[in-house]
Amino acid sequence: MPRFEIDLNPLEHITVDAIGQPGNRVFYIQGWRETDPQAVTIIIEKVQLQSLSLGAEQILAELIKQKPDLTLPLVEVDPEKMRISPPVDPLFRAGEIGLGYDADRDLVVIMAREVVLDGGDPEEAAEVRFWCTRLQIQRLSEWSKDVINRGRPLCPQCGQPMEPEGHFCPKKNGHKH
Ligand SMILES: [Zn+2]
Repeated sequence: MPRFEIDLNPLEHITVDAIGQPGNRVFYIQGWRETDPQAVTIIIEKVQLQSLSLGAEQILAELIKQKPDLTLPLVEVDPEKMRISPPVDPLFRAGEIGLGYDADRDLVVIMAREVVLDGGDPEEAAEVRFWCTRLQIQRLSEWSKDVINRGRPLCPQCGQPMEPEGHFCPKKNGHKH
């Protein structure tokens, strides 16, 4: 039995982001349901994010091939809305990320399974499933590319971008760090 499983369905919002210095960034996937008091956040590897973004594009491309009447709107990605929301309090580090499409519900599911450490029982690995609409997955895929390519790190305290010369953190009463 997994130590816990969470299905975010319906999903109010989903995003990915990176925190830390360039070259040493930690990547996160974060989503929440309308009723959730706090977002569900999971640590992922950059390479997992890259394959997630690519996989989402492939699923959408495949859908258009299968349903020629289906059109994908041009999505506007608002960085303000896509930035990770503090507190960044990850439930686990993902060992596996999977993608699937549920034709009945017309939802793309992102499955994140907890990494199994040496001596750990794979059966107990926690699992979180983010059930995304086509629009959500389209936006996520676009935004993922920005995050992967972005050099400017985010402050782990307040989630705002940090300038190379330093950052006046509102969470630290404006002290530079
Ligand atoms: Zn800050």
